[in-house]
Amino acid sequence: MIHLARGSRLVIATHNPGKLAEMSALLAPYGIDTVAAGALGLAEPDETAADFEGNARLKALAAARDSGLPALADDSGFCVAALDGAPGVVSARWAGPGRDFRVAMARVERDMGAAADRRAWFVSVLCLALADGEAACFAGRVDGAVSFPPRGGHGFGYDPIFVPDGDTRTFGEMPPGEKEAISHRTRAFRAFAAACLSPP
Ligand code: IMP
Repeated sequence: MIHLARGSRLVIATHNPGKLAEMSALLAPYGIDTVAAGALGLAEPDETAADFEGNARLKALAAARDSGLPALADDSGFCVAALDGAPGVVSARWAGPGRDFRVAMARVERDMGAAADRRAWFVSVLCLALADGEAACFAGRVDGAVSFPPRGGHGFGYDPIFVPDGDTRTFGEMPPGEKEAISHRTRAFRAFAAACLSPP
């Protein structure tokens, strides 16, 4: 297993400012010195894999190879049981070029129709790669059900139509701290930190 000692430099292989800020904040207590892929002028590879792990792995490996440093990448999405796991790796694309998630949520509602199975889940996979090609991936998942119409003004993406198991509110109705406590991203990060980082 790869271990990142305190003081290690780590490339965050994303060009998304929100993800960069979130990752840097999560890593701060572990003494990791983060640098953004964009700040190093690294190219953003196409997400051509068929699953979350494949995409996280290809982004982390490309950034590690091109920078010569360890690199961390993530891939995430929303999966609906009645749609055979769609939108899955194309969750962002369902929102169209305008990135309008009302469009994406309306498509989920239309495609599901009256399907009896309302189960859905979010997945996040984090992948840590080294310049020599070694890589380790960690998945996090939160299970729940799809609910229409969309509810709540918090969060982003598909949050207004997802009710996590054990709650009656959508992620969109939860204050951000409550979602973060149980989210797929938090779970993936905890698995990564336990395996690869020195305790805070
Ligand atoms: P990517 O990880 O940047 O490829 O994009 C993942 C896509 O999945 C986002 O654009 C959202 O549509 C969706 N997604 C991932 N995580 C969440 C979440 O926590 N809430 C709502 N939507 C999410």
